[in-house]
This record gives sequence, C-alpha cells and structure tokens, in this order.
Amino acid sequence: ERVVRPGADDVERAAEAALRPRRLDEFVGQRVVRDQLSLVLEAALGRGRAPDHVLLSGPPGLGKTTLAMIIAAEIGRPLRVTSGPAIQHAGDLAAVLSSLDEGEVLFLDEIHRLARPAEELLYVAMEDFRVDVVVGKGAGASAIPLALPPFTVVGATTRAGLLPAPLRDRFGFTGHLDFYATDELEQVLVRSAGLLGVELRADAAAEIATRSRGTPRIANRLLRRVRDWAQVRGDGRLDLAAARAALEVYEVDALGLDRLDRGVLRALCTRFGGGPVGLTTLAVAVGEEPETVETVAEPFLVREGLMGRTPRGRVAMPAAWEHLGLTPPAPSGT
Ligand code: ADP
Repeated sequence: ERVVRPGADDVERAAEAALRPRRLDEFVGQRVVRDQLSLVLEAALGRGRAPDHVLLSGPPGLGKTTLAMIIAAEIGRPLRVTSGPAIQHAGDLAAVLSSLDEGEVLFLDEIHRLARPAEELLYVAMEDFRVDVVVGKGAGASAIPLALPPFTVVGATTRAGLLPAPLRDRFGFTGHLDFYATDELEQVLVRSAGLLGVELRADAAAEIATRSRGTPRIANRLLRRVRDWAQVRGDGRLDLAAARAALEVYEVDALGLDRLDRGVLRALCTRFGGGPVGLTTLAVAVGEEPETVETVAEPFLVREGLMGRTPRGRVAMPAAWEHLGLTPPAPSGT
C-alpha cells in the first residue's frame, strides 16, 4: 500500500544499493547540479585539495545519498555515512570527526535534525578543521583543541531553509534537487532494468515513469513490482500490459496516487462537498491519523493541483473531481 511513498527502510535500501549510479556521468537528470558539482570536484582534484563542503537539498528519493557516494568515488576517497538523528550528543560527532582520514567524505543525512551542541561543534570543524575536546567536568573542565585533517562534509536535507544560517554558510556549494521529468525517469528505469537483467519495453517504461511522482526511488520500486508480476503472472515480459496489470494490483493509478491518496480526495469531494474541511475531520473520515494525511498524502496532492490548503481547511481542486470522475456541485447562487 505504501508503494508510492518516497521514504525507504533498510530492506528497501539494500535493494536500492544495486541500482545506484556510481559515477557522475551515470547520474540521470539534474543537469545543473551535476554540471556545478563536476566543476567543484574537478577543480579540487586539480589543486590536490579536499573539495568544499557540499549541501544537497530536496525531497526524499531524488538522489542525495547517491550523489554523496558519487562525490567520494569521483575524488577517490572513502565515504563515512551518518545522520542528524543518529548523533545524540556533540561527543558522538566529535568521535566521528576525530576518526576521519585525510580527504574523507562525511555524509550527514538529515543534517537539519542535528542537536544544537553538535551543530555548533560541526561549524568549527568545517571551518577550522578542529574539534575542541572537553576534558573533566564542571568548573575544572577545559577544552583541548584537536586539529583534524582536511575532509569534506556532504550534508543532505529535505529543505535547506530548515538549516540555521551559520551552518548553511559553511557550505561552499549548495545543490538543490528537483523532481524528475518523465523522460528522465524513463532513463532511470531503462538503466535499472539493465542492471536487473530484465528487458523493459519503452511503452512500459513510459507508463511506470508517469506514475512515479517524479521520484527515482519510486520508479525503481514500481519497476521491481512490475518485474514480480511479469515473472509470476505474466510471461516474463515487461511490456505495457504487464506494467498496467501490476500497478493495478498495487492500486497505483494513472497519476501515481494510491489508495490513501484517493480515499482522501474522495472523502473531500463526496462527504464534504469539496471542502473546505479541517484536517482532523478529513482524517477521521478516512480512518487515518491527521499526521498521516498531512505528511503522507497531502504534499503530493497539493503539488499535483488536486487539493488546496486554505485558512478554512482543505479544498478539492477541479482536477480532483475530474480525476475521480465526479461532477463538482454547481456554485451556489447560480
Ligand atoms: P535520497 O538520499 O535523496 O533519499 P537516494 O540517493 O537514496 O535518495 O536515491 C534513491 C534511489 O533512487 C537509489 O536507489 C538511486 O539508485 C535512485 N536514484 C536517485 N537519483 C538517481 C539518478 N539521478 N539516476 C539514477 N538513479 C537514481
């Protein structure tokens, strides 16, 4: 049911690992970021120095982790991976930083979720390549500065605006990843099919791409589901018929909406006359937590112009009625 969600758990991450592009020129789309990044890396290589710290922002599943791995591969350095939520105390971060090798790339996922003290330690480390190790406690405590070898932080965040300015300013380069166009997702799919050793027909690639919400992670996941269907119920071919049949099994419709998305829209249209209706009322109508509706279904519905948010509540946009095959009520007073 969650087949079109952009997040990934560990099992999913393992399946994804095989499909990750390893070099910048295998990375599909995001031309601007790719060009800029390739300059940054090439220049650093030419100078024989660690590249500037890189901040990558954008929604989940668009390739931030992949780019961090590519940066390390392109400069031929090891990659260390951690995340904001994994670092509980400044000391945890100090331990990671002080164990970095020269030129190592440190990937900090969800960097906006670092705790304050860790964040402050990070500024200093990024700017001066130094950590202050605190020894002792209370009045007798003192800080011993420890020099670090040069390294490169690659930070990832869903929104650059969530980062405090002082931290944001420590990044020499910021790249913003945007949702992919359908033809770019088709390229991702063709490449992935090749790696999975299956033949994907062009019409099937196009069909999967249009239902993937602009997100490579979702495209790859749908591809795996179509492959399952073709293997178990079809004749092994990944053609248009197989793609449609598989996506029907997983209840992913032509726009990439799943059951929850459609449930929300349908309730909005049929039970509340298209709104406006409050989030909590709407959530109760579909038997979900308000938070689930707000964070899981709503962002894509709003982005697709199916649902609107107004000060008085959620409203169905004309495209929602059309998508569900419903007729909106005539405007009152006419
Ligand atoms: P994020 O870190 O932004 O959540 P990931 O880097 O983990 O996203 O990417 C999710 C999946 O999508 C990976 O398996 C990766 O192979 C694939 N992917 C992402 N961007 C691209 C791209 N530009 N070209 C090919 N595959 C991509």
